[in-house]
Amino acid sequence: MSDFSTEFRLPKGCPNCGSHRMRVSQARNPDDKVFCSSCNTYVCLYREAEDRLDNDPKSQSEEMIEKATNKDERELPPKHS
Ligand SMILES: [Zn+2]
Repeated sequence: MSDFSTEFRLPKGCPNCGSHRMRVSQARNPDDKVFCSSCNTYVCLYREAEDRLDNDPKSQSEEMIEKATNKDERELPPKHS
C-alpha cells in the first residue's frame, strides 16, 4: 500500500520534525491522510493540505505587501527631529 504513495511539499512543516516533505496516497483523495515523509507523523488530511497549498501564494503576496508598507513607513521623515 505504501508503494502507491507520492511525495509533495507542504508550506507548513511537520509539527514533529519540521520537514516540508509530505507523503500521501497516489489517489490524493481529500480524505486521505498526509504523513511526514521523514518521521511518518500524521500531519493532516489531504483536503487540508490542499487548502494550505492554495493559500501559500496568497500569504506570500501578503508578506510582500507588508514589507512594502514597512518600507514606506521607514522612508517617511521622522516626525520629531
Ligand atoms: Zn516529521
